This record gives sequence, structure tokens and C-alpha cells, in this order.
Amino acid sequence: MKVLVLNVGSSSVKFVLIETSVEAIDNENEQKLGRGLVDKIGIANATVKFTAPGKAPYVSTPPVWDHAAAIKQVITVITDPEHGVIKDPSEIDAVGHRIVHGGEYFAQSVVIDDNVAEKITECFELAPLHNPHNLKGYQLMKEFMPYVPHVAVFDTSFHQTMPRHAFLYALPYSTYQKYKVRRYGFHGTSHRYMVYSLEKHFAKKSRCDFKAITVHLGNGCSITAIDKGNSVDTSMGFTPLEGLIMGTRCGDIDPALVLYLMAQEEISLNEMNTMMNKYSGLAGLSGFSNDVRELSEEMMKGNERAELALRAFAYRVRKYIGSYMAALDGADYIAFTGGIGENSVLVREMVMENLDRLGIVFDRERNANVPSGGGEISAEGSPVRVFAIPTDEELVIARDTVRCIAASKNKPCP
Ligand code: AMP
Repeated sequence: MKVLVLNVGSSSVKFVLIETSVEAIDNENEQKLGRGLVDKIGIANATVKFTAPGKAPYVSTPPVWDHAAAIKQVITVITDPEHGVIKDPSEIDAVGHRIVHGGEYFAQSVVIDDNVAEKITECFELAPLHNPHNLKGYQLMKEFMPYVPHVAVFDTSFHQTMPRHAFLYALPYSTYQKYKVRRYGFHGTSHRYMVYSLEKHFAKKSRCDFKAITVHLGNGCSITAIDKGNSVDTSMGFTPLEGLIMGTRCGDIDPALVLYLMAQEEISLNEMNTMMNKYSGLAGLSGFSNDVRELSEEMMKGNERAELALRAFAYRVRKYIGSYMAALDGADYIAFTGGIGENSVLVREMVMENLDRLGIVFDRERNANVPSGGGEISAEGSPVRVFAIPTDEELVIARDTVRCIAASKNKPCP
């Protein structure tokens, strides 16, 4: 079956068309037919891009005033006679939607019906920048494809297995009861894919038989402690701002700093929020970039602020690895992923060197020569084995979509 995977954000729509089935999942025989992006929705120079194996890349700059126009562009480009991959939208059998926040309602992916849509709406206040657009994407796509199943795959659901002592903040308990204030965690599809990849390709062992720490380092960064395939703690919290240092987000800070800085700088809540989300992290520390490639190059040339930003970034990851080793009572595997985790030899080295006393014996050679499909970066015989593994969130969404449909309406996804 052909599954369209949709990721609708405030100003962009990312989409991938995947040919898959229950059997194809078992044999890892899925095929990505094409992927595209409608970017800068509502802005003068919007772009539509699409690439499909064996075809010339498609790029156009039509006016895309709103999300409805963006969804129309998705249909137009995938059915384009020259660049597209299908003749008619009726060839699409199902749509998998990335939904950022499922609150405490969803511990698994689900086929979307009115009740599910209502619950996603209830979670708007938990993810005001994401959930409204995610749901809008569903509503718009449903107009084009009313008769095919639409499945919601949540960033948060994987972390619903966290125990209360890990997900509660030490605030008055009434804040949890009244406002659902708790740690939710994000990047669930990526962390889940790491568990799958470890089990199937790298550890080659049932997930029931290992503990792992999965480290997603991209523009957003999070780290998860996993026991028997379940998330037991994760670094992102009530929002994706908590935890690791990220491209432009500060991660953990003293909460009293928010009050102090607002008073000192005489700035509003909104401005403080923008400072922590858009002007902090690697960009804030270096003063010039959130891009690890650029920072690494500058560091090699002797730029101290670039080095400081990268060292602070790596140090935070190290600290979390240490604390999750304690939380798990030791881990068997560590898996790095995301744009930085998969590609930055330098960052992985800064994080992993000299951790022998924790049972992590790092191998510089291996770290510098990871194959494109992923590989081990710890030394032969290291008690904790460490890998760099490419993530594939769209594949997780397509697989959940297929399985949810196969398991039919009321049964939970496997
Ligand atoms: P993501 O959000 O997963 O796309 O990751 C974005 C981050 O990955 C940026 O900081 C990039 O600089 C970093 N990145 C991507 N490719 C490389 C690479 N080859 N080497 C180092 N960092 C990279």
C-alpha cells in the first residue's frame, strides 16, 4: 500500500510517499517513492520541492498563501506527469500524520476519528506552536482523501511509559492535577527507531534483554533512558526546551534566571520565551551559528567561542549519559542519531572520550569511519557498546500507519 507521511508545521509541510505493507515491514522492504517540502507558507517566496528516485528534482515557487494551498501543492506535485510518482490521489491508501503532542491521552498511534481529533485539540495548549497545524493538515488532507484511513503518530506517546517519579516536577502536585504540568518528552519516533535498529541490526538481541541510552542530536536534542524497549526517562520535558543544549534552545537552566533576566532586561514573557528558544543554545553561546559544521570549522581555525559552544554542548550530553547510567543501573548500549549524532565525528568524540570508568571504551578510528548505514564507535570488548545510527522518523510513521490499519479500529498498535 502507498502511505503518505505528512509533517505539517507553522510555515512548512514535509511529505514522503512510502510503498509498504505488513509483509514489507517484516522484510524491511519498504520503498520511499518520493519526498518533498512546501516551505515558507504565507510568505512571498514560498518554494515547493520534490525528489523521487530516477527523476529530475522538481522546484517551483508558486504563491502558497495558506496551509490549504500548501496541501494542494503536495497533491499537485506527487501527481505531476513529469516529476510525480502517482497518476491520481486515489492511489494513496492511507495518510500518516506526525502529531507533536498527545498529552496523556495517547500512548500509541491511532486511526484518527472525531474523538481523536477532539483530544488532539485538547492538547493545543500543551503544544500551541505545533498541534493546531498538525491537526489542520489532517483536516485539509481529509478533504482530498475522505475515504482512506488517517493515522496520528505522536512525538510524545513513546514516553508515556515513564514512571511518575521520573515525569513529575517537584512543584505543588496540584499543578499536575490542574494544568497537566509534567514531563512529556518528545522525539519519540526517533528514540523508538533506535530501539528497533539496535534490536534488529546492531545489538541483534530482543529489546526485552537490554538497557539503552538513545541520544538524538539535531537542531533539537534529547536523550532517553530505555529499559526493555520502554522509555523510563527523557530529557525534554513539559516542552521541548528542557534538557540538552540545542541549536538555538538553552536546555536546562536555573528557573529563577527567567525571573531575574526579565527584570534586568525589562522584557516580556514573549521576549523571554524567544530568547530561550531562538537566541540561546549553540547560537547563543557562540554568538554566530547554530550549525555544528560551521562551528567545527571555526573551532579548528582557533575560534574560542565556537569551541566553548561545542564543549558546553558535549559536556551536557556527557552529564546526561552519566545520570541515565545511574537511572538505569547501567546500560548495555548507547545510540547516537540526528544530524549531529549521525555525522559529527568531533561532537561524538568530545562526548564519549575518557568514560572508561563507566564501561565505555571509545574507539577513535571507528568513530571517524562510521559507514553510511551506521556502525559501532566503541572498542572491541567495550562493556557498553556505542553506535551511531541514522534515524528514520518517516518510516516509523508509515509503519505505524500500516499496523494501526491492520490491527483495525479499536485495537492498539503493536
Ligand atoms: P537535524 O535537525 O537532525 O537535521 O540536524 C541539524 C544539525 O546537524 C546541524 O547542527 C548540522 O550542523 C548538523 N550536521 C548535519 N550534517 C553534519 C555533518 N556532516 N557534520 C557535522 N554536523 C552535521
